[in-house]
Amino acid sequence: MVYETENRTIDDAVARVLDGGMIDRTDAIALLAQPVDDLAAAADAVRATLGDGTVDACSIVNAKAGSCAEDCGFCAQSAHFDTGIETHGFLDPEEILAAAKRAEADGAQRFGIVVAEKGVSKQKRPEEWADVLRAVRLVRDETDIEIDASLGLLTREEANILADEGLNHYNHNIETSPRYFDEIVSTHTFEDRLKTLRRAKNAGMDLCAGVILGMGETPADRVDAALELRTVGVSSLPVNILNPVEGTPLGDRESAAISKTDLIKTIAVYRLLHPTARVRLTGGREVNLATDEQHWPFEAGADGLLTGDYLTTGGQDAATDIEVIERAGLTPNMAVNEFDPERVKTTANHDGADAAVESRADD
Ligand code: SF4
Repeated sequence: MVYETENRTIDDAVARVLDGGMIDRTDAIALLAQPVDDLAAAADAVRATLGDGTVDACSIVNAKAGSCAEDCGFCAQSAHFDTGIETHGFLDPEEILAAAKRAEADGAQRFGIVVAEKGVSKQKRPEEWADVLRAVRLVRDETDIEIDASLGLLTREEANILADEGLNHYNHNIETSPRYFDEIVSTHTFEDRLKTLRRAKNAGMDLCAGVILGMGETPADRVDAALELRTVGVSSLPVNILNPVEGTPLGDRESAAISKTDLIKTIAVYRLLHPTARVRLTGGREVNLATDEQHWPFEAGADGLLTGDYLTTGGQDAATDIEVIERAGLTPNMAVNEFDPERVKTTANHDGADAAVESRADD
């Protein structure tokens, strides 16, 4: 497994990472040019040494759907595009609690409350803000699941209040590199997103922030996005793969603009760039990979997934996800929420039950 590129090798990269060091931008771009099998094996070795052999599952609820004033070019929920999705205001907090309980029963360790919004605003929409806090408290008090939320841009005050209420994690994806971001979004900036991540972190929340691959970005953009995430420090790195939505600017593509090989290579390099973060497969994985291919990323360093439906598109049931995890020789994480994987599989097989929580999304 020694392939030289400007005197940089996969073995050197693995040794450096396992020694507590870091690979840099040049290393990461050179690694992306290496054979996929060797790169995957290297990333798998890093995960096996530094990880715990489990795959963490999270689940989300689309707590406020559609009519978003922002113009993110991949997003079905933007009011700028005619995508025909169902829209609704912020759900009753009791409905959100019910979704969290279903996610917990399906084995999720983490539950995310997601809104389609530039930012839930304490000042502009105080009633909605109060409902968000009520939902956080209900899930905090009545389940064992960890709570995550994706509420858009935050002020410093809002971040502090959410952390004080017991929100464990904050999700805010950066989507792509700083260079490519402006091609995808014009209504807010890359720096706006970073600012919110820093505020959430300073307030004491763990960060879950990631990307969407296959939007037309270059391999260097993929590396640069991961390096930005390393600068802010994320504990969970969701990797979405574009699932083109008709009506959006990226909706005329037949599929994501990334090959399966490049997807696996990117996952492997993300593992090396973020040795201890959960590299989490999220939206689009089951559209871009066949069921019997879905274990590949988990043999290339990935160790997390989003189970159930996404925000506006269907996902995969918990039983199938458990099979994918086991096929990769890994086990579901049970650190926070102890559940019975065999019961989830049996339930799905007997009832054909769709273990999905209602409506969830890709961002
Ligand atoms: S990605 Fe988020 S901020 Fe952008 S349009 Fe969609 S819901 Fe709005």
